[in-house]
Amino acid sequence: MRILKICDYCKKDFIAKKTSSKTCSDDCAKRLYKLNLRNKKIHHEELKTEFKRKPEAFIKEDQIKAIQAKENLTLKEAAVLLNISPLTLRRWILGGKVRSNKIGKKHMILKVDLSF
Ligand SMILES: [Zn+2]
Repeated sequence: MRILKICDYCKKDFIAKKTSSKTCSDDCAKRLYKLNLRNKKIHHEELKTEFKRKPEAFIKEDQIKAIQAKENLTLKEAAVLLNISPLTLRRWILGGKVRSNKIGKKHMILKVDLSF
């Protein structure tokens, strides 16, 4: 089998013997591998800096589990469950899209009210 493909690394046409081939040569394959590795590392570093700058924007898996176990949620927790920003949720509440009980200055949202 011969397939005309474009090398993922040097962007040149090449004849591939296997459908899984992504690069024209071993050299390109090695370079592509290194490039991907570097990109992954850069991405990881970017996430790390972002975490240092805005730790509240990140949520841990066990925190999500804890929130999921609760019936009464704060605005922030409910926003996490819905995967939206607290600001958006506040807008939804004000617009009547989501029911909330105001306790003092805090919005408390019942989890059952989120299943729409
Ligand atoms: Zn190539």
